[in-house]
Amino acid sequence: MQELEKFKLALSKARSAVYSWDTQTGEITWSGRLEDVFPTGTLPNLSTTKSFTDSILPEDRQKFTTSLETSIRAGGDYRRLYRIKTQDGHLTTIRDRGTVRREDGHTICIGTITSNERPEIVKTQPLSHISQQRQYFMHAQYESLLFRARTAEAFDNAKLHHRNSVLMKISIDNLSMLMTWYTPDFADRIMDALKIHLSSILREGDTICRIAIDQFGIILNNHSQTEAELVIDRILRRIQLYSNPSFEEPIHLRCSIGTVHFPIHAENAEDALNKAYLALSSAKSKAAEFYVDYQDAKKEHLDSREEVGQLNYLQSAFRQGKIHMAYQPLVDTRTGGIYSYECLLRMEDEDGAIRSAGNLIPVAEKMGVIDVIDGYVLERIIEELANHPDATLGFNISNMTTDDPKWLKTCTQLLQDPNIASRLIVEITETAAQHDMRQTAYFVAALQSLGVKVALDDFGAGYTSFRQLKSLSVDIVKIDGAYVRGIAENSENLIFIKALLDFNHSYGVETVAECVETGEEAKLLMNLGVDYLQGYYFGHPSTIRPWEQDDQSKQVNQNRIEKVIT
Ligand code: C2E
Ligand code: CA
Ligand code: CA
Repeated sequence: MQELEKFKLALSKARSAVYSWDTQTGEITWSGRLEDVFPTGTLPNLSTTKSFTDSILPEDRQKFTTSLETSIRAGGDYRRLYRIKTQDGHLTTIRDRGTVRREDGHTICIGTITSNERPEIVKTQPLSHISQQRQYFMHAQYESLLFRARTAEAFDNAKLHHRNSVLMKISIDNLSMLMTWYTPDFADRIMDALKIHLSSILREGDTICRIAIDQFGIILNNHSQTEAELVIDRILRRIQLYSNPSFEEPIHLRCSIGTVHFPIHAENAEDALNKAYLALSSAKSKAAEFYVDYQDAKKEHLDSREEVGQLNYLQSAFRQGKIHMAYQPLVDTRTGGIYSYECLLRMEDEDGAIRSAGNLIPVAEKMGVIDVIDGYVLERIIEELANHPDATLGFNISNMTTDDPKWLKTCTQLLQDPNIASRLIVEITETAAQHDMRQTAYFVAALQSLGVKVALDDFGAGYTSFRQLKSLSVDIVKIDGAYVRGIAENSENLIFIKALLDFNHSYGVETVAECVETGEEAKLLMNLGVDYLQGYYFGHPSTIRPWEQDDQSKQVNQNRIEKVIT
């Protein structure tokens, strides 16, 4: 590296530039890069005495000029400290060191300027803005203390008069973003205006304080639960729809609200403040909910503890091999024979009792382990089908599995034998279809191409339309149990089932009625044209493999079948 290059590199790293300043002509020449001294903003014009002096912050200019004049007169070395403003308002503190030389009758200053610190953004505010910011901060601190005092007062009052009051914490979630986009000052104007706007819906005696840069605290004194709900709702709407014609640009505010009712749900004022904070944190963590009350936040917390317990239970059942399948028959209304069995997941308790895993499925989905379950069940069912060539089996998969390529791949690998695939029914739920129609349709087609039948479970529980049903092209539709229960007395359910059967018949889709519990229900459904019946009336799910039993000990109630079918 050349000497000069080294020199330039060192200058750059030191965020410095070297000048030679002819004080007679006013001309300043530079070595090194001014960009290193002023890394942000448009460079100030530092090429003449006039433009240099003009770039210095007015407050520092007089001191600078006096120091320069003294140096020119007295000669020798000098050190100066002043602030330079770039053309777009960025402020840089400059350390200036140099010496005065006389050459050919000219007085030349030779020196370096160095940026003394990281640049500070001033933008459009005058210097007094800094102290204004501090004022806001101090004011917020003051309001926060005031709010505490008011909460204590309100708490005592509510307790004394046996009234319900509400403590709210509201956070404007995008305020920091607005501060960056605009200026901190603008964000403050929003908060001030919003506070006035919100005050107008409060009753006399209620309190609103700005308790943090981006937060309000509100006390609704003596409000019943219903009254409070109404006010909270209005506050939420006001913030979400907030607009102010005096602002240069339209803004959109996002907020979260946490509430706690007192004295019923808080022991004292401090406790109420903490609980409102917890509720607010919970509201902030939710994508679709803006408002959370402490009671719900608490329940959620307990729920998640319980869920962790359930997950541990599920994992240990897996480890200890205490996972079983229960089989429930589907009766064919045309033949009276058994068409297939639905396989349902069961867990064995410490004491050997068998219980449903139905409530663990949503937990497993939430905790991200559903792929383990659905993968396990798939392998187990295929093994069952391979060992028992007479069995036709259906089983359930989670909504989440319908877009799990790994599961589909395993399925493809395991189902090379068409004799096994043709005896398999995969049940997906209606919510999977609503989740992503295109993906679900692809998934259904992929399974069908392997020779597997696909059933749409719980139909009627969600909002899948017949048109969507058509585009899914499933083989079987299972009517949700809610439509089957008490069908004889419910004409609306009857109309729905008839419409579905019409549709299914014209598109060659087979229909199952689930949760058939009585002979009357069974008879009615059969007469309507339902193809298969499933429910406690014919047989409960059982962990004993039916096809390994002799006819008499099979779980299916043959007498009942005969009574209905013949
Ligand atoms: P599902 O697929 O709708 O299963 C039918 C549920 O109804 C089963 O509950 C069954 O025991 C119950 N049932 C059957 N007949 C009757 C009846 O006549 N009356 C009444 N009231 N109920 C009846 P289970 O076994 O507790 O399963 C609950 C849910 O858990 C299932 O609903 C299914 O969505 C899910 N599930 C079960 N096993 C698995 C599995 O291996 N994997 C996955 N992903 N989900 C499963
Ligand atoms: Ca099912
Ligand atoms: Ca079902």
